[in-house]
Amino acid sequence: MSRSPSLPERPHLDLDPDMSPEERLEALRDHFEEIVAVNQKLEEQLEVAHDRRETLTDEVDSLERENRTLKSSSLYVATAEEVTDDGIIIKQHGNNQEVLTENASAVTEELEAGDRVAIDDSFGIQAVLDAETDARAQAMQIDRSPGVTYDDIGGLSEQITEVVETVEDPLSDPAQFDAVGIDPPSGILLHGPPGTGKTMLAKAVANETDATFIRMAGSELVQKFIGEGAKLVRDLFELASEHEPAVIFIDEIDAIASKRTESKTSGDAEVQRTMMQLLSEMDGFEDRGNIRIIAATNRFDMLDRAILRPGRFDRLIEVPEPNIEGRTRILEIHTDEMNLSDDVELAGIAEETDGFTGAELASLATEAGMFSIRDSRTAVTMADFEDALEKVREEDDTSGTPIAFA
Ligand code: ATP
Repeated sequence: MSRSPSLPERPHLDLDPDMSPEERLEALRDHFEEIVAVNQKLEEQLEVAHDRRETLTDEVDSLERENRTLKSSSLYVATAEEVTDDGIIIKQHGNNQEVLTENASAVTEELEAGDRVAIDDSFGIQAVLDAETDARAQAMQIDRSPGVTYDDIGGLSEQITEVVETVEDPLSDPAQFDAVGIDPPSGILLHGPPGTGKTMLAKAVANETDATFIRMAGSELVQKFIGEGAKLVRDLFELASEHEPAVIFIDEIDAIASKRTESKTSGDAEVQRTMMQLLSEMDGFEDRGNIRIIAATNRFDMLDRAILRPGRFDRLIEVPEPNIEGRTRILEIHTDEMNLSDDVELAGIAEETDGFTGAELASLATEAGMFSIRDSRTAVTMADFEDALEKVREEDDTSGTPIAFA
């Protein structure tokens, strides 16, 4: 640290009593000049001192800020449930603790019920979180024009017909239902083993009707955003009405709509709340306009029957593993762009792949292509498919679990 500069010596005047008036005047003039010079020097030193003080003040400010940050603990995330005259009722995420906190700080002036906020240890609201950084953007996948058509889906023509009647027609021609005087089904439920094309069906219907496709996985709703499930369901329907016409696709619906269990853990209560919110959104659905809901599950047996009542997911469509014709068509679709040699017989491969799902057949085709690349060939042969099948069977035997190609 620099030291203070030494002060100039103070000018001193000794007048000899024997001096003539002229000499005295001369001495006083000299003294005055000396004082002016010292004054100037002092002013310069003062200016330097001012500059230094400013630098030190900045330094102190930044150290104080650092100190405050080090002392303060992290903030918690909560949702403002209700803004009342007595204060704000907030619910902390994670433990769902509800607290009435004072409406004291300036940040709460514009606060509305439903906003996400950051709170400190004493539940004081420190910041209102921006809706754009909200979890919904992370949890929901929006696709304005999913690139899947009905032609890309093999072996599900009956299911496609049902989806067209129950989802596509109400979206593309709602007036027809008004004219007949019936309500189209609120939601449809696709159920069947994983990888059989349920997501593809939902995407294709959105594509065919120029609707926005909004996907949300039930498991994400309850695992990632604990305490927010019900809010996310509200957001999901709100988002859909902002993007009408829209298809809401709730994958793994069993994660939020399983049969009630006996256990009463807070996790179960949370799942229940999420499901109740979903049911209430669906019950009040008629006035919502051009939005259709498609849910999917691999665990139909686990579903709570409440979700299947009329006016909710009242149209059930089974999406099974493909039969031989289905497998042939799926293989045709997935090898369409491949350079197949003349000896490849897709019907023969379909015969050998009993029990394979669409996703597994898609992987089989890719795997066969890999074998030809490994051999530095550009055409894929029947032998490549056989090798691929063998590899898949070996993997299946060693893992002891169902084949998972993807
Ligand atoms: P999950 O239940 O695991 O979500 P899903 O039934 O929704 O599975 P999809 O995501 O639709 O399955 O399918 C996965 C992939 O498998 C598709 O991208 C596609 O490549 C292939 N596939 C599945 N079924 C079919 C089918 N019927 N026709 C053509 N390809 C299919």
